[in-house]
Amino acid sequence: MNHLDCKAKLLERFFRYAAVESQSKAGGATIPSTPGQMELAQLIKGDLDDLGLIDIKLTEQAILTAKLPANFPQGYAGQVPPLGFLAHLDTVDVSISPVVNPRVVKNYAGGDILLNKELDIWMKASEHEELLKYIGQDLVVTDGTSVLGADNKAAIASIMVALEKLTANPSCYHGDIYVAFVPDEEIGLCGSKTMDLADFPVAFAYTIDSCEIGEIVYETFNAGSVMINITGVTAHPMSAKGVLVNPILIANDIINHLDRKDTPEHTDGKEGYFWVNRLTASQNAAEMNINIRDFDKNLYEARKIYIADLVKLISARHPKAQISCEIKDTYGNIADSLTTESRQCIDYIYMAMENLAITPKLIAMRGGTDGSALSVRGIPTPNFFTGAHNFHSNCEFLPVNAFEKSCLMVVEIAKLVYEKSRR
Ligand SMILES: [Zn+2]
Repeated sequence: MNHLDCKAKLLERFFRYAAVESQSKAGGATIPSTPGQMELAQLIKGDLDDLGLIDIKLTEQAILTAKLPANFPQGYAGQVPPLGFLAHLDTVDVSISPVVNPRVVKNYAGGDILLNKELDIWMKASEHEELLKYIGQDLVVTDGTSVLGADNKAAIASIMVALEKLTANPSCYHGDIYVAFVPDEEIGLCGSKTMDLADFPVAFAYTIDSCEIGEIVYETFNAGSVMINITGVTAHPMSAKGVLVNPILIANDIINHLDRKDTPEHTDGKEGYFWVNRLTASQNAAEMNINIRDFDKNLYEARKIYIADLVKLISARHPKAQISCEIKDTYGNIADSLTTESRQCIDYIYMAMENLAITPKLIAMRGGTDGSALSVRGIPTPNFFTGAHNFHSNCEFLPVNAFEKSCLMVVEIAKLVYEKSRR
């Protein structure tokens, strides 16, 4: 498969997967949260079958797994660790259209890109300086009314074309490769949290879920969510003295004990934060959600203790109110799950980039990936680039050259894991 073929195959698959609406929906009671994700999983399942993969399994939750068996030279009896690649089926719901109509801007000449003539929607070069890097290249763009969903369908296409490359070339040796496609990443990593790891028995895995070419992510937040319920005492204000306990003011007390600078809007880099992101309240009761984020595990644990202590303090101040607090861990920092031995999975990313002449760009991600959920569950899973820019925006775009490199990373890592194990 030469470069032209590879790019054509990537685009063909990307457009086919993009045509299936698969936005996830927060607050849904089921996994997958939307039927489109199952529809997409079924389409990919057929494609995996065509490629000759084995042990293909699609669960009721739209978790799709399959295996490409090892391909070794005749008589080879060495051990090669099984590796995995994982991508998510859902696209994000940012309250714009779920229907994606991508198109290719051939040979981008610089300047603004008219995304939608009818609605007069532009991607302005002045607002998107990253465009300048791609003058003379082909770009996949949206019609301005939706995200592109390169997050994460570019990854799905990359994995599928990489499998195609590996199966088409008998002299390309590799160990067992497992692939997984999971739903509902955007609404809390639900698929990777619930998948049965017996169907994904790998030593380590990769997600392909960050942006620009070269990006590597193996540090993510430790993340927790806090739910606080407050029940007060209602009374008519005419006879309220010494009786009424106002849950709204108690909620306010709690918020006042949080540092106003220790918030998402005042932090960046590796700083953590508290994010009060929901408060519903009435005369009788209040309910509040706070997200806790920190890269450092100890600081993260300290933040949990701070909240628990704060709720005790406020409870003591308002003995007639009932205040409960539940703190849950949602995902962990990938870096914390790496051991001296499993750090190898990171080395493979750097080696593959060197072989492909890609400049690595290490990023600490102020969020989580499916890899954060898998790493906590015992599978070290770093993340590398799709090649796209502006995830979660109608200005999301995918440079085709970078897209191809993302696909080649999959092939290269598969080869490297075999070659390095042989020694
Ligand atoms: Zn994603």
